[in-house]
Amino acid sequence: MGDDRYYTLAEGRPVANSKTAVLMRNGQGGGLGLLQDTHLIETLAHFSRERIPERVVHAKAVGSYGEFEATRDCSDFTCASFLNKVGKKTSVLQRVSTVGPESGSADTSRDVHGWSMKLYTDEGNLDWVFNNTPVFFIRDPIKFPSLNRSHKRHPQSHLPDATMFWDFHVGNPEGIHQLIILFSDRGTPKSPRYMNAYSGHTYKFTKADGSFTYAKIHIKTQQGIQNFSREEATKIAGKNPDYMIEDMFQAVERGDYPVWNVYVQLMSPEEAEKYEVNIFDMTKVWSHKDFPLQQIGRLTMNRNPRNYFADIEQAAFSPSTMVPGFAASADPMLQARLFAYPDAARYRLGVNYQQLPTNAAKAQVYSPFQRDGRMRLDDNYGGDPNYIGSSIKPTKFYQDVKGSSPGALSQHTDHENWVGEVAAYTSEITDADFVQPAALWGVIGREPGHQDRVIENLVLSVSEVKYPELRKAVYSLFSRVNKDLGLALEERTEAAIKAT
Ligand code: NDP
Repeated sequence: MGDDRYYTLAEGRPVANSKTAVLMRNGQGGGLGLLQDTHLIETLAHFSRERIPERVVHAKAVGSYGEFEATRDCSDFTCASFLNKVGKKTSVLQRVSTVGPESGSADTSRDVHGWSMKLYTDEGNLDWVFNNTPVFFIRDPIKFPSLNRSHKRHPQSHLPDATMFWDFHVGNPEGIHQLIILFSDRGTPKSPRYMNAYSGHTYKFTKADGSFTYAKIHIKTQQGIQNFSREEATKIAGKNPDYMIEDMFQAVERGDYPVWNVYVQLMSPEEAEKYEVNIFDMTKVWSHKDFPLQQIGRLTMNRNPRNYFADIEQAAFSPSTMVPGFAASADPMLQARLFAYPDAARYRLGVNYQQLPTNAAKAQVYSPFQRDGRMRLDDNYGGDPNYIGSSIKPTKFYQDVKGSSPGALSQHTDHENWVGEVAAYTSEITDADFVQPAALWGVIGREPGHQDRVIENLVLSVSEVKYPELRKAVYSLFSRVNKDLGLALEERTEAAIKAT
């Protein structure tokens, strides 16, 4: 309606509404194709190139647009401009995904869910690349590829493989906290609308004076947590493998906009030094009692993408995309992700991925020392110096234009003067690693029948493990959380194996 654009080739040549028909000598049509038929050649050649590399993790997703509204003036702990005025709104892109399975897989399968957000703030983009769980399976980044491979397909059979899954986790037991969440009801959430999201990592809110506060971020659904039972999730996986995409898309389409409240837990550097938990260990939470949640904002998703490929598939999120007032902590997992995410985007989308419309900042961008490269979309800064230190056209900084400190330097605070020897990062497990999983087992016990469901979910998976010795090691792992849990798991799993 109202669209009088006509069909052209990609270079603009109008295309006539006629079929390719080459007459044979005998007068019959449709015999020959010619290389001069650019319309045909370009149509076929482009089709073969429609797919870009699928994300190695987080391939299956749903995305939408919306807004973040600040509900608190946070200038007491950050100079981030999007948080410095009550009622200030910032537009947001959200992408929620499963982690291990491929893009065509069922989105109700048991998995952690990725939760990425791009906040298009007036001081540049801020990406929050979170999960729907507050902890993670590992705390040493070198294990990341191994973890993910063990959750994907076996290198020989090309099948998901419970033996490989549990072999990894027995060998890397620091994931026990996350495993309990994964096998709880929260491992099969109903839809993004009914999940929480968590920063997992410790981040820092910074101020222009260089001071900082450690923070964990919690995004809590206002629709209420809702999960599928194992039986429901399995049934829906067969009936509608795209259930989550459909649920989210339709809700936004009919104006039933999902809302989340956004909270922070804040910790001073002095408190961090004394706290019983290593705040750079991603397998641990900060107790709500020790560090209560404080609301800073509200998130509402209210617009579907106009085009999935352009808006969501081409979106690239990275924890390294940060604004003045928000910074990384020394968490080794986070430090590794600061490199790995943009590196993945460069491979998947090309070196100029930040110029794609869905990734482009709405704030002004002048980055003349990143030039050229494949698929440069803008004027490439014309004749501006492509080297630092020009006296002909000196580079202006924020202060030169605005007359005040940008706060930008506040990402690099003079903090964390850690003293010690440089050593390989260790992820050895101790009894302290079982304290929070045991507390979680108690939290799960508050809900009638939930502990039982966790055990049943585990039985289904552990009973697929081929080797009795490996199964024994799994029972021992869960016994360290709670003796009765380990025993019940052993009894029910071995009984299930005998019964088959
Ligand atoms: P509280 O006793 O104050 O609260 C327990 C929290 O557990 C709830 O607020 C809820 O988090 C969360 N929870 C409930 N069911 C599940 C589940 N199946 N999977 C994951 N989380 C669930 O907590 P504490 O701060 O004293 O911590 C006790 C334990 O709770 C921790 O060891 C940790 O395992 C877990 N937990 C703690 C969180 C934290 O940031 N402190 C966050 C999430 C879990 P929510 O309100 O976020 O839904």
